[in-house]
Amino acid sequence: MQYHIMPVTPYQQNCSLIWCEHSGKAAFIDPGGETSKLVNEVQKRQLNLDKIFLTHGHLDHVGAADEIAKQFNVSIIGPQIEDAFWFEQLPAQAEMFNFPPIESFLPTQWLNDGDRVTLGEINLQVFHCPGHTPGHIVFYEKDTETLFAGDVIFKGSIGRTDFPKGDHATLIQSIKQKLFTLNDDVVIVPGHGPNTSIGQEKASNPFLR
Ligand SMILES: [Zn+2]
Repeated sequence: MQYHIMPVTPYQQNCSLIWCEHSGKAAFIDPGGETSKLVNEVQKRQLNLDKIFLTHGHLDHVGAADEIAKQFNVSIIGPQIEDAFWFEQLPAQAEMFNFPPIESFLPTQWLNDGDRVTLGEINLQVFHCPGHTPGHIVFYEKDTETLFAGDVIFKGSIGRTDFPKGDHATLIQSIKQKLFTLNDDVVIVPGHGPNTSIGQEKASNPFLR
């Protein structure tokens, strides 16, 4: 697996373009906006966009998903179904966060804890990590020890829990029980800001002492 991170939207959300070197199949994880910039990257690298994966239903993570899915005729996969209300409220989210108007949509397929999804020869494991949102999932690629963590954990910080159905204790439990059982070397690609690692956050994240 290879990947390229592109910060999008005024929130600088890290959209990851991931691809399988053997098949040329590619996917976006959390295409939050700036559709043409994202599509150009796929074309520049001569990749074959095959899927869209979503970690949770916040607008800055999903804003371009429906448009790209229609353009490339690909499926939108994830998050877990408890985030359905966030997708239903996308037009209100756009108004609240001063984004361009958007129509609500639902993913093609919901995911659950323990699911596996593929992209060419890439295998992604799904962990349900509620707390920031109730249906938040993360994607783990074991061969390269890479974790696409959305808004669960950041370098030196954790996701907000002051939104509807957010819960701080649940988020801490998700991180400690699901993520901190991975190797220290696992690279975390967070939804915002620079990459980090499981070991680094275990040692120094002030929210997880
Ligand atoms: Zn979020």
